[in-house]
Amino acid sequence: MRKSQVTGTVWAMWPYHPDLLARPVPRYTSYPTAVEFDESVGAEVQENAIRAVLQPVSLYLHIPFCEQICWYCGCNTGAANRTQRLASYLDALDQEVDLVAGLLPKGTPIGRIAFGGGSPNAIAPLAFVRLLDRVMTAFGAAAPDISVEIDPRGLSQEWMRVLGATGVTHVSMGVQTLNGDIQARIGRVQPQQMIADATASLRGAGIGSINFDLMYGLPGQSLSDLTETLDATIAMVPERIALFGYAHVPHLLPRQRRIDASALPDQAARFEMAAMGFERLSAAGYVPVGFDHFALPSDGLARAAEGGSLRRNFQGFTDDSSEVLLGMGASAISNFPELIVQNEKNAGRYRMLISGDKLAGERGVWRSEDDRARGNIIEGILCGRAANIAAYRNAPDIMEGLAPFIARDLVRLDGDMLWPTAHTRPYARAIAVLFDTNRNVHKIEFSSAI
Ligand code: SF4
Repeated sequence: MRKSQVTGTVWAMWPYHPDLLARPVPRYTSYPTAVEFDESVGAEVQENAIRAVLQPVSLYLHIPFCEQICWYCGCNTGAANRTQRLASYLDALDQEVDLVAGLLPKGTPIGRIAFGGGSPNAIAPLAFVRLLDRVMTAFGAAAPDISVEIDPRGLSQEWMRVLGATGVTHVSMGVQTLNGDIQARIGRVQPQQMIADATASLRGAGIGSINFDLMYGLPGQSLSDLTETLDATIAMVPERIALFGYAHVPHLLPRQRRIDASALPDQAARFEMAAMGFERLSAAGYVPVGFDHFALPSDGLARAAEGGSLRRNFQGFTDDSSEVLLGMGASAISNFPELIVQNEKNAGRYRMLISGDKLAGERGVWRSEDDRARGNIIEGILCGRAANIAAYRNAPDIMEGLAPFIARDLVRLDGDMLWPTAHTRPYARAIAVLFDTNRNVHKIEFSSAI
């Protein structure tokens, strides 16, 4: 039990150990992380990997444009203010779709197609219909799950109709906070009624799975602000909720300089917000998924978390079991069992590469056997399941690093198996980093562990 320094509330679930959360850590949407990418992996390797695929794949298409740029945003995106720029980008994306589909062995099953960004609804609804049709036809996809990230500020009725009519199964909406003052402080103003209307319209269009992205640790945000946002969110009943901690890294993301750093909650307040969010959403019937996602029990993500099949990839926590993800578009990442490749990030240079009839992979990393073993352990810890650490039991740095977490019941070691406890979740990234052999090599500032 822990008493809040701010409100006096007693939290039952999570003990607070600031010394174990002091080290900035990666979010581990891959292992090795993107910091380890270099130019030794490029288009040629990417082409060979696609040609050699022998299993079902998932597709990801990146739309790096938004109607308005939010100050906190860490995505590769730019303003959608030039029609010609959008049209040229979509032409290049069409071309890349044809290129990649032409390399992939015929008959490869396509399980999922995800559109992310940026905001895919920054393009015209008709352009989306054309793009999806191109992807479905080129890859011969039959009834895949289709997910789309959307910005509710630009979600027209026409877009709603298109999402419903094209068989989109899952929509993820950027909400962040429903408090108007905090919205102004992060450069993203969208009234609560807009979110409620968008949710109702998406339901009306037949979208059966809706996700809200929320954030804690925002400038000026108090525990009661977050409580109000969570309660209003729960009342709208999205199937999934992601509750991310805001990462303030203006040295890496210059657009964050507009955010008043002096108004950011400190680490103790962030911890309290994460703990309260966990308790409130759990009490409302949501199943915790990994360290920052929640889903209704009937949702595939909740079933994967409870059944031990949850995965972590570039899109966060997922119930997608595919080992191969083919990313298309500027900065999109492709994932193969032995390899990660990222496309050229700059949209203009991406277009030039593709117009030369070449793939756009320009950075990446090979995964050694040791990388894959460490990656499996890291993924297991983040996904809340037991991890076999037999290969690292004699590594003194890992065992010494684990000792304080074990001593405080934040994780349990039983033989070679590292088991999560009821208190692992907020420390999962701080435990995972112990298995990351690169963190002492590449010194770069990551975000707070909570
Ligand atoms: S709408 Fe989403 S992707 Fe676009 S700037 Fe805002 S947070 Fe970033």
